[in-house]
Amino acid sequence: MIYFDHNATTPIDDRVLDAMLPFLKIFYGNPSSLYRHGRIAGGAIDAAREQLSALLGVQPGQIIFTSGGTEANNLALATLAPQAGLAVSAIEHPSVIEPALHLKSLGHELTLLNVDANGLITQDAIDEVVRLKPGLVSIMLANNETGVVQNIAHYADQLRAHGIGIHTDAVQALGKIPVDFNRLGAHLMSLSSHKIYGPKGCGALVFEKSVAIKPVLLGGGQEQGFRAGTENVAAIVGFGKAAELAKIELAERHAYLLKLRTLLEHSLSAIPGLTIFAEQAGRLPNTVQIGIDGVDGEMLLMQLDQKSIAVSSGSACASGQREPSPVLVAMGVKAVQAKSAIRISLGKANTEAEIFEFIKQLKSLNVKG
Ligand code: PLP
Repeated sequence: MIYFDHNATTPIDDRVLDAMLPFLKIFYGNPSSLYRHGRIAGGAIDAAREQLSALLGVQPGQIIFTSGGTEANNLALATLAPQAGLAVSAIEHPSVIEPALHLKSLGHELTLLNVDANGLITQDAIDEVVRLKPGLVSIMLANNETGVVQNIAHYADQLRAHGIGIHTDAVQALGKIPVDFNRLGAHLMSLSSHKIYGPKGCGALVFEKSVAIKPVLLGGGQEQGFRAGTENVAAIVGFGKAAELAKIELAERHAYLLKLRTLLEHSLSAIPGLTIFAEQAGRLPNTVQIGIDGVDGEMLLMQLDQKSIAVSSGSACASGQREPSPVLVAMGVKAVQAKSAIRISLGKANTEAEIFEFIKQLKSLNVKG
C-alpha cells in the first residue's frame, strides 16, 4: 500500500513500540501505587514528560497528559472560554468547533474568526476580537487539511496586550515544524501522539503556569489534579519516545518531506484543471490539498483505494460526510470545487518512487464527476 494520509494518523515507529512493550507486559503497575512496581510505572511517566517538555522548551510540570488532541482541546476551551466568551477560527478541527458550539448553547458568546483565500487569519478578524475581548481565542498552528501554518506568535502578542487568553491546537504541527511553546506565546497548546509516530489515544495540553486549569475529568487527582484517571502508561511512554525522536530527527524529516512535496507538486502541475489549495501560504512540509476541475474527491479517493493508495478527501474525522470541507468553504472556495478536494499528507517512510506511482495512477483514472 502507498500510505499518503499521515495527517489522519501515522504508523507507530518501531523504536516507539519497543519502548512501550515493557510497560504492557512487565511493568504493569499502577503509577499511583507506592510499591516498586508502581513506582517504575510512575517514573516512566516522569521520563516521558521530560522527553516531551524538551521538544517544546517547557518545564515538565507544564504538561498534562490526556487521551488525545480532542481531550486537550476540550480542556483548553473549558478552562478559559467560560470567563468572557470565546472566539475560534473558522478552520479549526471539529474538536475545537464542537465544544465551542456547545459553550455557545450554554449562553457563552462565540465569535468565528475569518480567514483569507490562503487560509490565513485576517488582521480584521484579530482587530475584531481585540475589540470584543473574549476570555479565549483559539487558533490552530497548522491546519489538518491545507497544512497552512498560522503566525501564532504575532497574534499572541496582540491578544496578550489586551489580556485575552490564546490557545493553539498544534496537533498537526508537532514533529513537522519547530513547536517552541514560549516562542509561540500561547497560554495553552494541544498535542496528539498518533500524528508523530506514537500510539493513538494519547495527547497533551501544555499550559502556562499562570493559567488556572479547570479540569473536565474529576476523580483520583492524577496529572496534578487537572486530569483524573489512571494514566495510560504505555501510551505516554510511547508519546515520550516519539517526542524524543522528533526532536532528534526534526530537521532531517523536514528537509526530506519538503523534497518529496516539491517533487509531488511539480508533477501535479502537469495535470490540467488542478489547483493546489493555499499554494501561496506557508504550509507544513508534508501536506498538499488539491482539487481537480470536474472531479469528485470522494470518488477519486475510492478509485485510488482500489489501486492501494490511501489519501483523504479532507479531515479524516469528517469523512463519510458529503458536505464540502468547511475549511475550504471558509477560504472562499466554491462548494463544487471544494467537493473535488483530496489531501495528500506524506510521512517519513514515503519515497520518490511512491510519488511517481501515485502520479501515474492519478493520470490513468477516469474521475470526472
Ligand atoms: N486537532 C487537529 C488539528 C487534528 O488534526 C486532530 C486529529 O485529526 C485532532 C485535533 C484530534 O486529535 P486526536 O485524534 O488525538 O483526538
